[in-house]
Amino acid sequence: MSYDRRMAEKVTDGAVMAGLIKRDKGARNVGLGEVPRPAAGPDQVVIEVYATGICGTDLHIQDDEFPSIPPVVMGHEVTGGVVEAGAGAEGWLGVRVSPETYFYTCDRCPACLAGRRNLCPERRSIGSHVNGGFARYVVVPQRNLHAVHASVGEHAGALYEPLSCVAQCLCDPAVASPGDTALVVGPGAMGILSAQVLKAQGAEVTISGTPGDQQRLDIAASLGLTPVLAGDLEAAIPDSGFDVVADASGNAHGIDAGVRAIRKGGHYVQVGLAGKPISLDIDLICLKELVVTSGFASTPRSWQRVEKLIASGAVVLDPLVTDVSPLSAWERSFGRTRAADGLKLMLDPRMDA
Ligand SMILES: [Zn+2]
Ligand SMILES: [Zn+2]
Repeated sequence: MSYDRRMAEKVTDGAVMAGLIKRDKGARNVGLGEVPRPAAGPDQVVIEVYATGICGTDLHIQDDEFPSIPPVVMGHEVTGGVVEAGAGAEGWLGVRVSPETYFYTCDRCPACLAGRRNLCPERRSIGSHVNGGFARYVVVPQRNLHAVHASVGEHAGALYEPLSCVAQCLCDPAVASPGDTALVVGPGAMGILSAQVLKAQGAEVTISGTPGDQQRLDIAASLGLTPVLAGDLEAAIPDSGFDVVADASGNAHGIDAGVRAIRKGGHYVQVGLAGKPISLDIDLICLKELVVTSGFASTPRSWQRVEKLIASGAVVLDPLVTDVSPLSAWERSFGRTRAADGLKLMLDPRMDA
């Protein structure tokens, strides 16, 4: 079966709802509009959205720096309750969930067959290719669903998706061992989630940021992480260097400082995207014999990791949610995300009703 856009656009008797839409190609072209209220086909569910997180990717879609197929409702970091189930998916009715983002993958390419749907060349994701979570309702395949743990607040469930991306970078295999020292560069949501995962692996974790990141560093400190300002990083480096460094800043200066702060034979993980080519002294990788790894988006395996990290209490999500606004306030919330004002900002479409 090949992907059919109509799969995502089944309409129930002309009912419409508000959604935040990438209307057309080109920078900007984003705004509120009316879209059909979705209905669930076989093996699909309709989620009533409780919250959808605003992510760097949404800003890239707004700027047309990330591929999308407009017109499309944006938003991929989704949580909500299942209010309608298609044939075969009835067991999910009433369950609070967070969905994996791939609406369609081919299930037959080498990547899919190896369980790496994230690398499928035909993958179509909610929020960029297929209508996503910045709307009152979103339809997804039931295979994508994960129940949200009872300990997680109703908005914070939207952080399952970014945590699954972090787990894809850090968990299989675990990059840190008990007793390791680790540095995370960049205290945004991905950075603080990365730091919590490394701490759960037994590392002692330092997280660096700029003076403008003070609120984020304070949140990190409240989670048992050691915050440091980038300007003071030199003094915080252990004698032989950090065993593990994870960059979640995507910033050229941060990446350079991170690679310099690792010990010989240490492990460097690229979590953040720079969004453009940057220069790096690549010889440091040879001279220090660094292990360099990364991860892109998420896999079913990394979502299983999320469920364990949350159930064990090793990672907490609620302290990361610093703002929840209605869809109608999207422009302000996008602007604040762009300015790194707050940590994770979310939109709750129920607030517009
Ligand atoms: Zn995201
Ligand atoms: Zn595939």
